[in-house]
Amino acid sequence: MKSEYIPTIGLEIHAELNTQTKMFCNSKNDPDEKRPNVNICPVCLAHPGTLPVINKEAVKSVLKIGLAVGGTLADFTEFDRKNYFYPDIPKGFQISQYKYPLISGGAINNIALERIHLEEDTARSSHTDGEHSLIDFNRAGVPLMELVTKPVITDAEEAVAFAKELQLLLQYLGASEANMEKGEMRVEANISVRKIKDEREKSDQSRTLRPPVGVRFEVGPTTGRREKAKDVELGTKVEVKNLNSFRIVGKAIQYEIKRQIAVLEDGGEVVQETRGFNESTGETFSQRLKESSHDYRYFPEPDLPKLYINEIKEFSKENLKKEIPELPWQKRERLQKEYGIKLEDADMYVNDRELGEIFERRAKKIGGKKDAVKILSNLMTSFEVKLRGDQKEDYKMTDENFLEVLKMIDARELSSLAGKEVLSVSSTTGESPKKIAEEKNLIQKNDKDEINKIAEEIVAENKKIVEEIKGGKESGLQFLVGQGMKKTGGAMNPKLLTEALKNIISME
Ligand code: MN
Repeated sequence: MKSEYIPTIGLEIHAELNTQTKMFCNSKNDPDEKRPNVNICPVCLAHPGTLPVINKEAVKSVLKIGLAVGGTLADFTEFDRKNYFYPDIPKGFQISQYKYPLISGGAINNIALERIHLEEDTARSSHTDGEHSLIDFNRAGVPLMELVTKPVITDAEEAVAFAKELQLLLQYLGASEANMEKGEMRVEANISVRKIKDEREKSDQSRTLRPPVGVRFEVGPTTGRREKAKDVELGTKVEVKNLNSFRIVGKAIQYEIKRQIAVLEDGGEVVQETRGFNESTGETFSQRLKESSHDYRYFPEPDLPKLYINEIKEFSKENLKKEIPELPWQKRERLQKEYGIKLEDADMYVNDRELGEIFERRAKKIGGKKDAVKILSNLMTSFEVKLRGDQKEDYKMTDENFLEVLKMIDARELSSLAGKEVLSVSSTTGESPKKIAEEKNLIQKNDKDEINKIAEEIVAENKKIVEEIKGGKESGLQFLVGQGMKKTGGAMNPKLLTEALKNIISME
């Protein structure tokens, strides 16, 4: 039944920019301030007669974001008043952008963007005891970026991947901490479903491949199915608000798609409205009927100058480009190419920048030899990450010690299992791996004479099993190798021992 419907999702994401001061006044922009109403002034409290002044850093920040996603930077831009009443918006309007956003177009993860604009955040209200409401104006007037995608996302997974990539971008650019738990990044999803029109569309749908999570495609104008949403009539959309973690974004979208399909299957109609998400029930619930843009009576803000971006020298593309670092998707691609590592590994280094730095530093120390680097990366992502996470500040691993273990594994002095044991001891004590391996008797014996000697001993001690092996029972060999391991405390090269055993038994 479900496959008869195509979901269409568009995202609206707000992010607080981490400028020194607020969007239109000199009050401090400090999301960590716990005392209420300290970072305030007559401007952000909307006292009569006060005038706003545009924060250049905030504009610059959004222009950089726009450039990074391949969007078009506005030649001309202006701010508008978005009129509505709520206690957290003391002016009775929010200064936002309507007709002339700073950025148009662009794409992230091959998902086309509609626009990115700049506005101001509202105050924070809390309704604690059900009787009183408290308002903290520290947040009022904090620069807020709003990014709107085109309605081209088709499932929850893709929406979450998009939001994650945007978060990384904002962090890499230093534009925002974009911490969702702190409300520095807030996601709203516009969701609708529509019935598949005909067989052709059905097969189209099954043929479309979603880009793998974290893989970047070209920026700029998108093609193919990404634009197809335009030609068809979409179903009635519902806006789901206040999604404050990636997990909740995913859950709310999944639930809402199911709910809308069920409404339509029942012969009902989806109502255009704003819904919230209840975490404990896992359901969305109706909050209010959705207003449309004309309800806000947008008009250009008369107290602010219009901006001609081209005429402002420090906003030139050349200048902005200088301040754009390597972007998450560029890094992901470079790491894979340069070091020959898997996408999953590269992704971990992009998400955890400190880990990425450690990896690249070590890779350079071993001269970038691809085979060795692959082992390095594998050991780091599959084993060290956990060690590091468990021990936190007590983690004592140095590059030298880590690379020494790698070398010993490579020289077959340590089995990879023993290598892990040595690493975990060294990470708590900081001791040299060689010393640890010797003390724990983990050095693999690769000396042929010694291996032969031990193999002969084993054969002599296990006559019965040797006969069985000669009779064709191969599993006996495993048992003998195990005996050798026991004898040497695991420090025997199992491959060499197996060969030696086979030799002796065949000559008997
Ligand atoms: Mn907004």
